Amino acid sequence: MDNLLEVHDLCKSFHTDSGGLGGASRRLQAVDQVSFTLRKGETLGLVGESGCGKSTTGRLILRLLEADSGKVLFQGQDVLQLSQRQMRPLRREIQMIFQDPYSSLNPRMKVGDIIGEPLQIHGLARGSQLKEEVIRLMGTVGLTEEHYHRYPHEFSGGQRQRIGIARALAVRPSLIIADEPVSALDLSIQAQVVNLLQDIQKDFGLTYLFIAHDLSVIEHISDRVAVMYLGRIVELANAEELYRAPRHPYSEALLNAVPIPDPARKRTHIPLKGEVPSALNPPSGCHFHPRCPYAKEICNTQRPPLEDQGNGHLAACHFSDEVGQFGTF
Ligand code: SF4
Repeated sequence: MDNLLEVHDLCKSFHTDSGGLGGASRRLQAVDQVSFTLRKGETLGLVGESGCGKSTTGRLILRLLEADSGKVLFQGQDVLQLSQRQMRPLRREIQMIFQDPYSSLNPRMKVGDIIGEPLQIHGLARGSQLKEEVIRLMGTVGLTEEHYHRYPHEFSGGQRQRIGIARALAVRPSLIIADEPVSALDLSIQAQVVNLLQDIQKDFGLTYLFIAHDLSVIEHISDRVAVMYLGRIVELANAEELYRAPRHPYSEALLNAVPIPDPARKRTHIPLKGEVPSALNPPSGCHFHPRCPYAKEICNTQRPPLEDQGNGHLAACHFSDEVGQFGTF
């Protein structure tokens, strides 16, 4: 399968105020040598706790933020080297769906105009053709023509996310970066929106980077999953394999937090110690070592490389062979 997107060694840091009088600014490494590929038509789930750098990664790809270093190849073209003018056609090809649809929709615009705006900006439709296309898109995402003249505040959270999806679809993108698109929604609505995203993926031949903070949301939509911890990818594998046999203790801990609906299956909790450390002062060596039940001395000083453990299953752990000894299920 061809790669639509390749991300190589992407890095981004932010400078923050130390807060003290005359204090020097400090560096927060939000994204630290992140690499992955995205094949045409697949969904890669990018998962990790809040602040791990997953949303920043999405924004760097679209250049809503500028990366410090690395490469982002979209259809072979390095996005980070393009001028703003050269970026324009790419902004049509790569669309983003946001977590909070309300803040990403202009409250003073009617829904029909919100969905039609990108079509106008890119010169794809106007006049009666524009309206027809907008109504067609509204139908695709489960809205009706009578919603055309309404304002965003008249809709529920799930409906507003449908408006966001229709707007993203309008310009016929090939890649959608969905940044926690269902996190703000009730559980029952989450499933509806995920199903909608799966349906339109088939119908429109879309590729997804699906960002989420827990593994349960992306289980059914992801072909592969990448797990991030404090700015780094710590595991990347075929979804089925990662859920069945994780090779990194942090993925194992995230999986243990996913509720199992079947009472006959039980998970043994791994003792995940301590709090998430501050990204301003990350632990040395393997960032996960202060919380890791498998940690040994080497983990305090040496960063484990992200290595193929077989079958394209990547994990960054010195002792990945031992993962599972505490019993995942
Ligand atoms: Fe745990 Fe060491 Fe593996 Fe890091 S490298 S996840 S501390 S066992």
